Amino acid sequence: MSKHTLQQDAHSTDRPRTDEAELPTVVRLAGVTHEYGSSGARGVSGSDRAVTALEDVSLDVHAGEIVGFEGPSGSGKSTILHAVSGLLVPSSGTVELLGTPLEGRSNRQRTRLRREHVGIVFQRFHLLPSLSARANVALPLVQTGLPRTARRERAETLLERVGLAERITHLPGELSGGERQRVAIARALVTDPDVIVADEPTGELDTETGADVLELLTDIGRDRAVLVASHDEPTLAVADRVITLRDGRVVSDGS
Ligand code: ADP
Ligand code: MG
Repeated sequence: MSKHTLQQDAHSTDRPRTDEAELPTVVRLAGVTHEYGSSGARGVSGSDRAVTALEDVSLDVHAGEIVGFEGPSGSGKSTILHAVSGLLVPSSGTVELLGTPLEGRSNRQRTRLRREHVGIVFQRFHLLPSLSARANVALPLVQTGLPRTARRERAETLLERVGLAERITHLPGELSGGERQRVAIARALVTDPDVIVADEPTGELDTETGADVLELLTDIGRDRAVLVASHDEPTLAVADRVITLRDGRVVSDGS
């Protein structure tokens, strides 16, 4: 797929919408509560004090939906995205990815589910500085058993798709912030995941560059679920549905 195709797609009129009820549920949270610092919780900080980051959160996300998470700093946006990605196991409640509950699984099983089904985009890109754009994008494919040549070709296709055909062998340090985030998006897509989780993906970018990145995310959302945490208006404007969090609780869900 060329950059040209992508841009045409991104500028086309409304995305085709089907009744959400007909589309498969890709992410389900049921009664999810998470405390950092309590026994049994993972990702514990140095502090002894337990912090309730999520409280009784329930929501379903369907294929093709772009869901925005908004709320002040500390309201639990990142914790939700980490729970969806299987990066943490909530203190209680259920997280299901494509109908498979994540709790009760070993770290290894969760990692495998994440690798197969979830692509993650972070605010600060998280690219390996010593690897080219292509090698960064190809990295998630190393575990798949795909031969090296095929991995490189797939990475190049994705880099072309995000408009970086000319930057394939560049190191992250040789790229602008917006280009780095495009590399990160290409990396998140390289395994063709069912879910894209993006935590403040435009937080480090200027308005115009952020808009380009959002256009990409919208395009991506066409056939998969996109969960995006943000406090900025333009980012939330691309969402089909915005969920507002306060102190770890869902206070509104615009579905
Ligand atoms: P947001 O992404 O909306 O800013 P977070 O999910 O990062 O919110 O945080 C929710 C709450 O959990 C906050 O009170 C935050 O301080 C706390 N928290 C987040 N990560 C940790 C951690 N690793 N250890 C302890 N507390 C944490
Ligand atoms: Mg956060």
